[in-house]
Amino acid sequence: MPEPADPILQVALPLPLPRLFDYAAEGAGAGDVGRRVRVPFGPRELVGVVAATGASDPAAPELRAILARLDQAPLLHGELLESLHWLARYTHAPLGEVLATALPAALRRGEPLPDTHSWAWRLEEAGATGFTGLRAGSRPRRLAELLRDGARDEDALDALMAGWRLAARALQRRGFVDRIAVPASELAPAPQPGPAPNDEQQAAIDAIAAEDGFAPMLLDGVTGSGKTEVYLHAIADCLARGRQVLVLVPEIGLTPQLLQRFRARLGVPVHATHSGLNDGERARTWAAAWRGEARVVVGTRSAVFAPLPEAGLIVVDEEHDGSYKQQDGIRYHARDFALVRGKALGVPVVLGSATPSLETLHNATSGRYRYLRLSHRAGAARPPEVRVVDVRKRPLDAGLSAQMLEAIGAALADGGQVLVFRNRRGYAPVLLCHDCGWSAQCPRCGTPEVGRPMTVHAHGRRLQCHHCGHRRPSPPACPDCASLALQPQGVGTERIEEVLAARFDGVPVLRIDRGSTQRRDAMQRLLGELGAQPGILIGTQMLAKGHDLPGLTLVCVVGIDEGLHSADFRAHEKLAQLLIQVAGRAGRAQRPGQVLLQTHHPDHPLLATLIDGGYHAFAAEELAQREAAGFPPFAHLALLRAEAKHAGPPLAFLQAARMAFETVRGPSSGDDAAPALSGPMPAPMPRRAGMHRAQLLLSAEGRRTLHAALHAALPAIHALPEARKVRWSLDVDPVDLY
Ligand code: ADP
Ligand code: ZN
Ligand code: ZN
Repeated sequence: MPEPADPILQVALPLPLPRLFDYAAEGAGAGDVGRRVRVPFGPRELVGVVAATGASDPAAPELRAILARLDQAPLLHGELLESLHWLARYTHAPLGEVLATALPAALRRGEPLPDTHSWAWRLEEAGATGFTGLRAGSRPRRLAELLRDGARDEDALDALMAGWRLAARALQRRGFVDRIAVPASELAPAPQPGPAPNDEQQAAIDAIAAEDGFAPMLLDGVTGSGKTEVYLHAIADCLARGRQVLVLVPEIGLTPQLLQRFRARLGVPVHATHSGLNDGERARTWAAAWRGEARVVVGTRSAVFAPLPEAGLIVVDEEHDGSYKQQDGIRYHARDFALVRGKALGVPVVLGSATPSLETLHNATSGRYRYLRLSHRAGAARPPEVRVVDVRKRPLDAGLSAQMLEAIGAALADGGQVLVFRNRRGYAPVLLCHDCGWSAQCPRCGTPEVGRPMTVHAHGRRLQCHHCGHRRPSPPACPDCASLALQPQGVGTERIEEVLAARFDGVPVLRIDRGSTQRRDAMQRLLGELGAQPGILIGTQMLAKGHDLPGLTLVCVVGIDEGLHSADFRAHEKLAQLLIQVAGRAGRAQRPGQVLLQTHHPDHPLLATLIDGGYHAFAAEELAQREAAGFPPFAHLALLRAEAKHAGPPLAFLQAARMAFETVRGPSSGDDAAPALSGPMPAPMPRRAGMHRAQLLLSAEGRRTLHAALHAALPAIHALPEARKVRWSLDVDPVDLY
């Protein structure tokens, strides 16, 4: 008789292998699914998540046993676990890597689920009657009186009364008070009222409240139209029904200003999670969501993995923002995954933007999403006036025309603030030898055919590559001809800062880009110091969103011409969004705003359409072009990328991968539903950080077709001998083809 099979655990481990790993475990059972375990793996120990249980194969060699179970109860279960299974299938990534991506780093490492409660002090029976015996005006008496209205947490007591801790201990000894653990959600400040919604806002609020179950919705509202107000009302409705809310915001959008506004208005603790927090803080937010204590979670991309046991609403602010797409590891799109979760949870998902992505807009206009619109600015604010400044044949000072400099001077004299937008940090984009034409190129990113200029920084003293980070001092003389006539060409934010600071002496000039504000709070501090006084802000797209600048009356846009001629199919969409968002920073409060757009291509159709017809006119034209060209949203793409030290192996791997796709299609099936393959070809940036890069693009009209082909061919691709000579990755729904 064969030996009876023992139950085993099938564990998802964070490894790039598309399979689960079997382990023996005492008392293994269905209750283990979703719990973390520590397991031996070769000479190492790994933390994984139990994905399934099964029975051992009595014929197989004996399994290794797990080292420990790390959780009392499943950490990943129900809707979240199912959605993550979906994500693994959709990205064609190993489940173990997907689950590891979903967990905060501390939990991924195997640390216990952290405590999330706060400590509070409560008046006991004895204290409620006995406090009158305390000397009037003494600290213990005052503390007891404070606690008569209800327990107070320690943060609140710190704010209310100096020296309360000593008094509390004295009272505790007499049994008058006790220290108790309370979920953070019970310590709520009273909510403050906001402005009364206008008719359009009210209609949107009502439409969201009317949904009972999954409903994808686009809230399409011009900049400053009060979208955030609509979210706040929808969130308050949801909280009143006893449900949790998840709010996703772009990396740059999660400012202390925004959190303050949420906290003040909602009257519940708001749990934030973003890359500026340490591992412990992120794990605490995740744990608070898991326990249902966090009622409102506001976070950047990875917050989409927050457990939501009592979900009622998901909001994705600035849904078009590029930071929602993870560009390495598991290449998920947080907006798209939020929709998947909303569907699984049966809750409305509100996507908000003044410049919706073409995908979302297409879904809204075709009726797949509810389409809510806010067509004008809220309150007293008026839309900004946009003017094109034609600079052909005009002299420029650090890229700025005389007309622009005059307008800046006038705005400052009028007591306003000015934003000069240039999406290029550094001093100048190129260092050129005026005598022989040599220019400084990145040795790790250029090829003999296509060079990559290094950006000039620090007023010309340093060179830096913006693609790989490579730095070196500027050469004192031209390496080719020894000439000393090395000149920075073009303008970056640093050079604009230099020129404007010299010209507008005594006016604060702040440069805000990744070079000047490495840390998240640095920008807030700089803007805080400026306050409402007249001044000039110079910045890259970091300034296009996030912080509200009520004093801004003039926005100057310089040097967008490069973006007009980019080859990427999404370049125009991104440029249009950026222009509208930057322009939308002007005149958001009482004072009217003006936007000057300086260009050498005043007749470019993109600019003409955008200025005459606005974003929606642009989007309609762009969608028609995408449809004609067979690009998203009218086709679905997947990009297979490969890179290696030498140029040959990536192309060889992708050629073999192409064969694998052709094999699964079958040479004679004549199946025209199979995805179209283009490539292998060198990537638009054929070399980066010393690696040669190539790609193979798959495109299909139907999502199913694309995924069927990937599903059929990927096992063979994983097994290719050529795969071992390259680093390769698959990007489903790539946002750009770089
Ligand atoms: P958005 O999120 O669309 O950019 P906000 O919600 O931040 O817009 O609103 C822009 C500004 O208008 C804010 O200062 C906000 O307080 C104000 N605001 C919003 N709705 C109203 C309203 N109904 N009445 C008056 N002011 C409003
Ligand atoms: Zn030279
Ligand atoms: Zn480089």
